[in-house]
Amino acid sequence: MSGAAPPVQLVILCSPSGAGKTTLARRLLQDPDLPGIHFSVSHTTRPARDGEVDGRDYHFVDEALFRSTLEADGFAEHATVHGNLYGTSVEEIDRIRAIPGARAVIFDIDVQGADQLVERYPRALRIFILPPSLAVLEARLRDRGTETDEDLALRLGNAVGEVERYDTFDHIIVNDDLDEAHDRLKSAIRGHGPGREAGVAVAEALLAQWKEARA
Ligand code: ADP
Ligand code: 5GP
Repeated sequence: MSGAAPPVQLVILCSPSGAGKTTLARRLLQDPDLPGIHFSVSHTTRPARDGEVDGRDYHFVDEALFRSTLEADGFAEHATVHGNLYGTSVEEIDRIRAIPGARAVIFDIDVQGADQLVERYPRALRIFILPPSLAVLEARLRDRGTETDEDLALRLGNAVGEVERYDTFDHIIVNDDLDEAHDRLKSAIRGHGPGREAGVAVAEALLAQWKEARA
């Protein structure tokens, strides 16, 4: 019996910058256990980093093009993040939905964009990625070596506001060991755990560390 293709699952990944969501998203795409997963390529006005490829990592655009697309209702969501504009185009979602065999689409977006996508697509799965500690987050961002000191400070400064939103997510995954985090992410996409319980303690510990550092 033939039937309509199952709907493509929308999977939103959020985290503070440097927690590892891009790394985890790339691994998902390469996992042979999860065929039919695609990555939503966002538009951004941020300059490309060394090694980033236009059309694969982002559509790198200038502000005029971003704003004209926005005015034409071309974005399913958009936000200013760390001083740059980012958005998911409606065209990108339609493109992935039209791919034969497509089962899921991964969005690597910030919490403001997640809220907008959920409003538009209430069945979207929301997954929050946390670093194991503040020190690890800072070390990962520094070791990535892609930001100026000023931008690194901005990203670390914005991290607390993102982590404060953890309770609006379906799953919270702590990215300490990469293989374990990948396995948990896979389970979440397949409709099993890990839920939020294990991540809540880490989120609360991170928030307490920030509070202490500010006091
Ligand atoms: P994000 O997309 O959340 O900003 P990235 O995926 O770019 O973060 O990861 C930040 C840095 O941390 C990268 O250099 C990446 O290689 C590294 N990284 C990611 N996950 C792990 C992990 N589990 N253990 C060690 N390093 C990691
Ligand atoms: P980066 O500059 O490190 O690639 O991304 C910075 C932040 O912007 C990350 O939190 C990333 O998830 C977010 N981001 C990337 N693309 C989009 C998008 O299309 N929309 C929104 N709202 N955020 C995005």
